[in-house]
Amino acid sequence: MLKYDSFYFQCPHCHAWLEGRNLKAEMVNQAILYSDGKVLNDNLITTPQKMIMCPSCGHIFWVEKPEEPFITYEKPDTEVYSWNTWRFYGISFSDNKGKMALVNHYKTFLRKSHYEPKKEIYLRRFLWWAYNDLHRNHQHVRLRYWLNGFMSFGVWHCNRKMILEGEKLFLKNYKDFTSNLKRLLALLEKHPEEQIDLELPEIYRELRQFDKAKELLEQVGSRTHFTNEMLRHSKWKDPRVFMVTG
Ligand SMILES: [Zn+2]
Repeated sequence: MLKYDSFYFQCPHCHAWLEGRNLKAEMVNQAILYSDGKVLNDNLITTPQKMIMCPSCGHIFWVEKPEEPFITYEKPDTEVYSWNTWRFYGISFSDNKGKMALVNHYKTFLRKSHYEPKKEIYLRRFLWWAYNDLHRNHQHVRLRYWLNGFMSFGVWHCNRKMILEGEKLFLKNYKDFTSNLKRLLALLEKHPEEQIDLELPEIYRELRQFDKAKELLEQVGSRTHFTNEMLRHSKWKDPRVFMVTG
């Protein structure tokens, strides 16, 4: 049984058909939440992709609300571009080259055009997450993770190498990472309605402004596992993205 429902929509420029996917909530086995707000359900990101580059003609268009009549659940009787060909612009997350390609896609989009604040926030948030993807599961490099028996030695070793290489790429691009994050912070402070829960303290923490992160976290009314974990990492002066639950 498939874990998602397919839907179909057309490129407004060349009218090619694209397949979209909605994850079926009842089929989700495991949800993972990261400190930067990215959520993965069975390894699929849950935030919908709003900016699409047509795999047929390269036209860029936004899908704010994927609703009928713009989309249909009936498979059209013609060739359809599968979800894999256009989601995240067709990149593969299985290596660092793919992850850097995604970073570069967002950077190019931001350089080429001027966007209204809501759209710029969307692109900068995804650029932030794409940079974090380079070393997102850094806790997996520890020997303890292999000893826990989650994966074979070969898989662990290979994965470890990729994360350590990713960390190097992250540090190499650190200046750009921080300038994007500062711009995102300024936009979110101006448009609080666009903020995701605990996004501001997380941005301050990743910008190494730990006192400011702690100050904001201490103002949060009800303490949760999420706020406690973020406080702990701020006190350790650890700026790296981490897994909150999973
Ligand atoms: Zn097109």
